[in-house]
Amino acid sequence: MTENKGSLNGSILRAYDIRGLVGDTLGPEDAFAIGRAFVTIASHRLGRNPRFSVAYDGRVSSPALESELVRGMLCSGADVVRVGLGPTPMLYFSITALDRDGGIMVTGSHNPPNFNGFKLALGGMPFWDEDIQYLGRVIADGTYAEGNGGLTECRVENEYVARVCQEYRSSSGLSVAWDPGNGAAGSILRKLVTCLPGKHIVLNGEIDGTFPSHHPDPTVAENLEELIAAVHEHSCDLGIAFDGDGDRIGVVDDKGEIIWGDRLLTLYALDLLRETPGVPIIADVKTSLVFFEQVAAHGGNPVMWRTGHSPIKSKMSELNAPLAGEMSGHIFFADRYYGYDDAIYAAVRLLDLLVRSKQTLSELSSKLPRTYNTPELRFPCDDDMKFKVVEMVSRRLQNVTGVEVSLIDGVRVTTSDGWWLLRASNTQPVIVARCEARCEDRLDRLKVAVREEMRRCGIEVPNF
Ligand SMILES: [Zn+2]
Repeated sequence: MTENKGSLNGSILRAYDIRGLVGDTLGPEDAFAIGRAFVTIASHRLGRNPRFSVAYDGRVSSPALESELVRGMLCSGADVVRVGLGPTPMLYFSITALDRDGGIMVTGSHNPPNFNGFKLALGGMPFWDEDIQYLGRVIADGTYAEGNGGLTECRVENEYVARVCQEYRSSSGLSVAWDPGNGAAGSILRKLVTCLPGKHIVLNGEIDGTFPSHHPDPTVAENLEELIAAVHEHSCDLGIAFDGDGDRIGVVDDKGEIIWGDRLLTLYALDLLRETPGVPIIADVKTSLVFFEQVAAHGGNPVMWRTGHSPIKSKMSELNAPLAGEMSGHIFFADRYYGYDDAIYAAVRLLDLLVRSKQTLSELSSKLPRTYNTPELRFPCDDDMKFKVVEMVSRRLQNVTGVEVSLIDGVRVTTSDGWWLLRASNTQPVIVARCEARCEDRLDRLKVAVREEMRRCGIEVPNF
């Protein structure tokens, strides 16, 4: 053991991962300390030197952070395989393919270019919440495992592409526009499309951490405009976008309409239930009522769970669920796959689903009931107040008749009009809200209810 007391900026230790502003709250010395601490914790848990893989996304700051991270891991005795530049799901894939105990992905995901961070996995599970706080304490304490680890390099791109391609089981192809947004999925995607039948147009396929074209976040409609234009221009069957590290998907149908993550999850779920009825399928608290009703109506067991890739993965393994997803476009397949959120894999499953259905994506989507909803709304609210708001609202509504209150994550309130959600953000001084109803005037009533609840807590929310 060596002692080397240090400390991280506490703000970078988040609930599901580590993320900070490069050169401000996050630097190479932090990457080194995180490498040492993660290996120290893993060595204790495993009772031996751990075997890890490490990958990094296309951000400008990623190679330097990766290099110090790996150096830290080696100093604490890990056996490290460097899998290099690629999307987060490729890192997850390498853990299985190279028989690793876990791994670290250097990624700022969909955040602005000057952010970066780390996603950690250990023993087939995400490393999060208490684990991440503990990692911070190990760094503050500075007592690290000592060792002389081994380092190898191994690209898994070709194996990964081959594995993902297996899911496309038809010989006829579709016409697809793709937009990885200059993110880390770009080079894999360009290989993938050469293995799939059909016509493929790849926009912004060059990996470029300055994100010159648009921000790589497909949950924001304006980031899909270029993709929608390409779908129209080339008369594509669909358009598919990825976030900066390829673990979230955005989809546009043949008419250029966006299919948000929760409706997309519903399409996967109904397809899956035809082959495996009765299984649990998990969706996060922001998910449309359409998912819950449709899954139940088709003989499945819909389960609502906390937002975030880490809690969703944990719940999936607890329930042995074959599929889970989030409004934000994280889709997790354990059915025929490994249970992690892989947008590239989800994309190929969607193509396979679509070609088998012999319908257009807009036809498939139009068979799901139409509802009226808001996007994810974000109301500024002080960090110490945001949890109090949720608590006050839930306490007030718990015994009101005709109102069903769920406290799985924030407060989700179901009334005869529909539902609304207030949830304290894990990462920002923000309350996240969403409303959904079966018709427009009912949606208006829900919006009024949300503003009224916020007002009771002393927070004025502008009209939305
Ligand atoms: Zn991501």
